[in-house]
Amino acid sequence: MPATPAWPPKSAPRLFVDNPLAEGAPVRVEGNQAHYLAKVMRVSPGDTVILCDDETGEWATEVVEAAKRHVTLEPKQHLRPREEVPDFWLCAALLKKDRFDMVLEKATELGVARIQPVVTSRCVADKLNPERARTIVTEAAEQCARTALPEVEEPLKLAALLKDWPEDRILFFADEEGGEAAADAFCYAAEPAALLIGPEGGFDDVERSAIRAHPSARPVSLGPRILRGETAALAGIAVWMAEAGDWIGDEE
Ligand code: SAM
Repeated sequence: MPATPAWPPKSAPRLFVDNPLAEGAPVRVEGNQAHYLAKVMRVSPGDTVILCDDETGEWATEVVEAAKRHVTLEPKQHLRPREEVPDFWLCAALLKKDRFDMVLEKATELGVARIQPVVTSRCVADKLNPERARTIVTEAAEQCARTALPEVEEPLKLAALLKDWPEDRILFFADEEGGEAAADAFCYAAEPAALLIGPEGGFDDVERSAIRAHPSARPVSLGPRILRGETAALAGIAVWMAEAGDWIGDEE
């Protein structure tokens, strides 16, 4: 007896849409999303597309109409609620565009709840295109099947970040000049937490002293080598996620 094919098919395209989804309420996608569905994925009426709205969660929808400039879909089944995201923020100094793009993408895949770009004295860049950043994290979330988008904040100067830091949130400070081994520091620190990463040129002495003097800051080491900012961000998030239990296996 041939096995019944899984439904919805794993190959079903996944998209985030702006408006909340509800059973039976048709959704019309246009622009790039319509082009992706109609021309790239070549969907046709009756096909299944997975839609997420970053609010109610994930739905299996059926293609009702696949026209040149728009595709209409009808939500048929609610598959998953919006996921619980570990309450972990990445506070990363702005890097050169393509490197920070990578930080946005990989931090999304690794499950952070919020990305807070930070402007420090040695940052090469001091601006972030919000639309471009949102596109990157949305596409990364679609690719890794997150049902919750990370928040991407406006860049904040380091002094302002420290001044208004929430008292209940530990700020792990990735300091290449030394600190507690990250895995040790992360293994018993509960949520909410954050990781602060410097720019290509590192923090200057005034910044480093200000960070270390902050009551919520905890310096951590990411090993004996000097990592690029994007490497340090991804390595630090990965260790935190593993220690915080985000990476649960399904085998004892
Ligand atoms: N001071 C570095 C140098 O001498 O080249 C430049 C900074 S490094 C390229 C970028 C950032 O990654 C640092 O500010 C720090 O936050 C983090 N980082 C790099 N290596 C690290 C390590 N071994 N332990 C902790 N953080 C590290």
